[in-house]
Amino acid sequence: MAIVTLVVLALLLIAWWLYGEQLKKRFYRRREKPLSETDRRQLATDMPLYLRLPAAQRQKLDGLMQAFLSRIDFIGCDGLTVTARMRHLVAAQACLLLLGRDEPAYPTVHSVYLFEGDFINKMPQHLPGGIVDMQGKHLAGESWGDGRVILSWQGCLRSAEHPFDGQNLVVHEFAHQLDQAKGFATGAPLQRSIPEAQQWQQVFSHAFRRHCEATFHGHRGLIDPYGATNPAEFFAVVSEVFFEQGQALYEHEPDMYQALEHFYGLNTRLWH
Ligand SMILES: [Zn+2]
Repeated sequence: MAIVTLVVLALLLIAWWLYGEQLKKRFYRRREKPLSETDRRQLATDMPLYLRLPAAQRQKLDGLMQAFLSRIDFIGCDGLTVTARMRHLVAAQACLLLLGRDEPAYPTVHSVYLFEGDFINKMPQHLPGGIVDMQGKHLAGESWGDGRVILSWQGCLRSAEHPFDGQNLVVHEFAHQLDQAKGFATGAPLQRSIPEAQQWQQVFSHAFRRHCEATFHGHRGLIDPYGATNPAEFFAVVSEVFFEQGQALYEHEPDMYQALEHFYGLNTRLWH
């Protein structure tokens, strides 16, 4: 019996040594103070959409932000000092995606890395024809499958200042996180039922094909050509349009708008 207890204890110690830090980050909650009046005024200045949200949604956003900020670490990169203003603005935009969904605030995300501006991803890029580019890629954001999100602060600020231009870096990267919650990004985030997943697949695969053809022929429409990169990028780019130009998306791509309205549980046409 004593041997069994010792073995169990040893296994628990090994598990804690291997995964303790990740488990702590996933479940540990700091006590995050509610936004003060000054914080709220700053957020409303940086993010005009905040005051345009219906009161009930704004209140829900505040609660989601608190949950987000109490668990997710912010790390300043290349000497950037992360301020409360930065944390609030990232959290507010990231939590927009959860406003109509009944789920906790990104349980798989544990850290947000902030750079002042664009940053360089020094990983080798594999290009068509077997070419490997070692120059590094300038980026404004990245969303990693291991729970890390990397953002340019200037990109976050610009996104919030222009709520209806159809481009939002934070929405884009956190849409990837919702997509990746099932393990990897495919452009088809988990749905509540099989018929919904089939409907999503049908709507999005047709729309993606049409978008790739239009992009190939040099036509530029509502959806950014970057969406033609792959289905995962398409979903992230279309999410940006859904949150910032809901009415236009509804008029141009009603099936896709409705699939997103159902997925996000929000009617963003009312925000404009
Ligand atoms: Zn992306």
